[in-house]
Amino acid sequence: MNLVLFGPPAAGKGTQSKRLVQERGLIQLSTGDMLRAARASGTELGKKVAGIMDRGDLVSDEIVVALIEEQLDAHPDAKGFIFDGFPRTVEQAKALDAALEKRGHAVDRVIRLRVDDQALMDRITKRFAEEGRKDDNPESFSIRLENYNKQTAPLLPYYAAQGKLSEVDGMADIETVSSNINRVLLADEGAKAPKKKGFLARLFS
Ligand code: ADP
Repeated sequence: MNLVLFGPPAAGKGTQSKRLVQERGLIQLSTGDMLRAARASGTELGKKVAGIMDRGDLVSDEIVVALIEEQLDAHPDAKGFIFDGFPRTVEQAKALDAALEKRGHAVDRVIRLRVDDQALMDRITKRFAEEGRKDDNPESFSIRLENYNKQTAPLLPYYAAQGKLSEVDGMADIETVSSNINRVLLADEGAKAPKKKGFLARLFS
């Protein structure tokens, strides 16, 4: 099961991903976390992306696609991945499809967390107070939201056309969001499992 968690900044993708890691043993691949880790350890890559991230802009497709491919190869026996904050552009989505296909896999489901802009702003203000993330300020946040609307939202029709898109209300509390995500995944698993024969069919076969 390869799952894309989709939604604007602060929609709750990270929180829900961590739950799915614990509940389902999937591996979370968060490009945001990877880039922050690169910065924290002071690598060349980290230095290169720092300014872009603080401004609220997207780093290049090339960089994030390379990070993802590296992680796919690092976990060849994974039960599945949760892509969190990736893909963020149509180019990235195409690169992800190609990278998974090359390894005999595919994106199985895309879950969009819907949260309205005012609620996002409130969450960002709270997160800045708690974590002090440099891009959680009103200026960078409005650029992040604008980039989401311009560059990332066009992925919705891309995945909808493939019949992979589901929506979950991200305004609900964490537990409710989590159980609604699980409901979507259980429906997928049910659809995949071989159908049990009914009583009459068994009797006459
Ligand atoms: P958010 O809370 O906005 O979803 P993330 O933690 O996912 O933030 O990402 C933080 C920053 O890292 C982004 O604003 C962007 O600069 C960079 N970034 C993360 N993922 C990507 C990606 N897939 N493509 C381009 N840039 C990315």
